Order: sequence, then C-alpha cells, then structure tokens
Amino acid sequence: LKNASDEMIHMPRKVNGGALFTYVTPSMDAKSKLLGYSPSSMKSLGLNESEAQTEAFQKLVVGKSIDVDKCCPWSQCYGGFQFGDWAGQLGDGRVVSLCELTNPDTKERYEIQVKGIGRTPYSRFADGKAVVRSSIREHLCCEALHALNVPTTRSLAISTLDGVAAMRETIEPCAIVCRMAPSWIRIGTFDLPGVNGNLDSIRKLADYCLDHVLTKDFQGQGLGNRYEQLLRDVAFRNAKCVAKWQVYGFMNGVLNTDNTSILGLSMDFGPFSFMDTYNPSFTPNHDDLFLRYSYERQPSVIIWNLAKLASALLEFIGAKGQVDDPQFMEKLHSTPELLSEAHDYTLQVFENIAKEFLSIVREDYFQLMTARLGLPDDATARKQVIDALEILENYDLDYPNFFSFLTRNIEEAEGSSSAEQLFNFCISSFNEKNPRFRNEAIGKFQEWLDSYHQLCAEIPKATRLNTMKSVNPHFTLRNWILEEINKKAYEGDYDLFHKVSKMTASPFEDSWGFPKDFEDTYCYSTGPTKSQIQCSCSS
Ligand code: AMP
Ligand code: MG
Ligand code: MG
Repeated sequence: LKNASDEMIHMPRKVNGGALFTYVTPSMDAKSKLLGYSPSSMKSLGLNESEAQTEAFQKLVVGKSIDVDKCCPWSQCYGGFQFGDWAGQLGDGRVVSLCELTNPDTKERYEIQVKGIGRTPYSRFADGKAVVRSSIREHLCCEALHALNVPTTRSLAISTLDGVAAMRETIEPCAIVCRMAPSWIRIGTFDLPGVNGNLDSIRKLADYCLDHVLTKDFQGQGLGNRYEQLLRDVAFRNAKCVAKWQVYGFMNGVLNTDNTSILGLSMDFGPFSFMDTYNPSFTPNHDDLFLRYSYERQPSVIIWNLAKLASALLEFIGAKGQVDDPQFMEKLHSTPELLSEAHDYTLQVFENIAKEFLSIVREDYFQLMTARLGLPDDATARKQVIDALEILENYDLDYPNFFSFLTRNIEEAEGSSSAEQLFNFCISSFNEKNPRFRNEAIGKFQEWLDSYHQLCAEIPKATRLNTMKSVNPHFTLRNWILEEINKKAYEGDYDLFHKVSKMTASPFEDSWGFPKDFEDTYCYSTGPTKSQIQCSCSS
C-alpha cells in the first residue's frame, strides 16, 4: 500500500480474490465547514457536545485528522440484488470507514464512516460525491428514526464543502456526512461471495459476524448449527426494525439487499419518505414503477432479501452438524445429491424463519399501534387499529395527523363535533380540493370515535395520554419539509435546517421554544402542494 500511488488505490475496478474490503485513504481535501451535528450521536460515542466546536472533531467528521498508518481506513466490498436483479460488485462507492470508536462508559463500539469523500475502488462509473440535498436528508432521517426508537444507522455530523460540486439533474454543491453504526455489513456483503460460490469468504464473513457483530442481544438461539442461528438472528433483528417502520409509516424506498443491514438497522436513506396520506401501496421511489418498495411490501421484500442470505449460507446451513468437518464439506460441494439435500433442508429452515419473521412483525406492530391509541394490546384494540386505518385509506386522510389529533388535541376531540374536527385535521392539502365523501367520512369517524371512547372509558385518562405522548411523535420529518429545507439551503439559508434538526431530535416534545404558528405548521401541515412527494435515486 505504501508504494502504491493514490491513483492506483482509488481506481474503480473489479476486486478479485474474495476481498471483502480494500484499504483506502479518503481523497477529498477541499475546505469544509461543519453544518450540523447530532448531540445524541455524540452522546452515544461518549463525547461532550462542546467538542463539536473543536478542530479535531471538525476534521474527523470529514476524514481529515486520521492517522492513516494507525487506523488504516477501508471501503467495503459488497454486491447486491437491486430491484430483484443481480447487480454484481457494488461496494462503498463514496464511503470510507475511518476507524472504530468505543464509548468508554457503555463500551458500545461504532464504526465511523465518511460519505461523499471521493472515489474508491468501488465507485464504478460514479463520482464518489454526495450532494448537500441528499446529505441533509440522510443526516436528518437517521436522527429522526433514532429519536423514534427505530433501530438505525446514525449520523454524527454533516459538513459542507467549499467549491465542490457534482452533476446530478443540475449542478449541485456537495457535502460529507459522517455516519456511525456498530457494523455496516449488509446482506449484500454475503451476496458477492455467495453468487461467486466463494465458500471460504462466506465462512470467514459469517464467523466474523457471529463472533464480533451479532454478539449483543443475539436472537438466533434455537435449532440448527451456528450458521442457521446466524440467519435466524439477522431475520429477527430485521423483523423488529420493519415492524417499527410500518408503525411510523417509514418507507426506505430502495430495499435492495445491499441496503439491508445484518443488524436490522435502517440504512441507506435515498428516496425515503414518512407516510403522509395513508396509502399502503405508495412507494416514495420515483423509479419504482412496479411498487416493489411500497409501504405494504416492506416486510415481504425483507423476507425476499433474507432468502438471498439463506442462499449464500446454503452449504453451511445444509451441512447441519457436519459443518466443521472439512472432508464432508468438500464432499457436499461436489456431490449433487448431498447438495440437493442441503438445499431442501435450508429451504425448510428458511420457511420456518420467514413464518416467525412475519409473526414478530405482526405482534410488534400491533403492540405499538394499540399503544398509539393508548389501549392495552388485545383483540378489540387491534380491531380498533384496523378500523382506523381503513377509514384513513378509504378517504385519503393523513396518517401522522390522525394520531396527533387523538394525542394532543384530545380535549377538542371530546366535544360533539369531534368527528368533523378529526376529519378536518386529517384532510390533506393533497385532497382538500376534492373532498371525496366528506360527510360519509365524518360519519365513519363518528362511529369509530364512539367505540374508541368506550374502550378509553376503562383506562385512566392520564395513563392513556402518557402512553400516547410517549409513542406518538408531535413532529414527523415529512418530505415536503425536507424539500423546503433544501430549497432554503441552496439559497444559503440554513435556519430551517437547524430548527428542524432540533424538532427531529426530540419529536415527542410539546414545544421546542419556537413560535406556536411555526411549530403548528411544521407539525401538522400536510404540505403546500401535494402530500405525497416521490424522490429519484440521484444523490
Ligand atoms: P444505493 O442505491 O445508494 O444503495 O447505491 C448503490 C451503489 O452505488 C453503492 O455501491 C454506492 O456506493 C454506489 N454509489 C451511489 N452513488 C454514488 C456516487 N455518487 N459515487 C460513487 N458510488 C456511488
Ligand atoms: Mg446502498
Ligand atoms: Mg444510497
């Protein structure tokens, strides 16, 4: 590495020999300016918030103060199935992992990366840069999900770059996001050696994951050898995460296998969106013509991705108790009958795991959804959830506002015109010019509220409201807000970005100290033009 020229190290290429990463030095040396940081990420690292003002921090988060000889930064090599098709080698095309940092108190370890630092061996045909618009989206989205207690990769900081621009639909200014996660390994990391049939690499990777990555709160205990347990663990972690996405109406938008974390963390925030109007078949991805990544398909798409992981692990799961016998593994590999047996067994394992996956998603989903209504999780409460969603879907009504109304405008909700107020609160600017079945919808809400109030009568009001306030965010990071932040940012005005950062970091607060009309607009407005904004993948 010492003798290689910078150009050689960074040259995009197909990396052979079963490599799962390449040592890379961040190649962006433009002047940078800290735009924002996440106090909560700093806390997770054990850093004091005041350290954000230090030169050391501001250099670290753009990959500059790294002692390359000590830390040996690297970019990951991975593959992936994109929109269902094998896409070959992908890898960190604009990301370099700098180092791992461990919180001295909690002992939690994070891999620190910078995104948008220039080309790496995995940049393929692209420029290695990230524009300000998508960097702001990623920075805020990580922290929004984290604040909602949704498992996610994190953003530590975002910095703008002087004089660095990239060509997207137009020429745009660039930024660097410093991100962190206990691990950035994804299903796509297994896909590459899996598709290449590189059993050595798969085993090394799987063992590394089992011994170093999946150790905390391992969920895979039970039947089967350790590779079967690995699959189960990855599946269950993802089930827990996707259940929460469904609860908060979060849509990733590009759930390719390379964007599915083995730790079940939300990752890769491209054309994501939080649900506005409740429409389960909505996809936030402008290019997702077949609705593969729509809201309602997220659980099944994750199962599809897990099937790819199962297929990469096929020989190891299928070998059952003989997995540590090299002679047997050799034989398995070259004997079609044994391989076919291994396949059948793995398929059966996978089917069982997929069933359990769906049951975790359903249970976790309803547990939290009934809590969103402030009700104990039982069959009646679940029916109440389903009935509410049916009304929202049938009349194109707003998802976050429905819960906000019940949680924070409840006093009004108890008056006689509450159904009409609820309807007015949930009608989005998207459909207000076409108030389909207004009276019918109000009638449905009235029926729903009647039975809801009956269920509520059995619970002390303060208890119910406390539960609801702890699970129903006051603020939701809607796409129209991100659009407005970015429009202003491109005019050089970051005020809204900073205000929204604060609201994003603590979405359950009653107030953030901004004027009431400002807070009401950003908490409840369903958008100036249309509520459902789609994004392209360009970033
Ligand atoms: P994504 O759709 O964000 O999951 O990205 C798919 C692949 O494209 C990943 O390997 C990324 O690293 C890579 N990629 C995306 N944008 C760029 C870019 N501007 N420069 C280099 N690589 C990129
Ligand atoms: Mg990706
Ligand atoms: Mg991406």
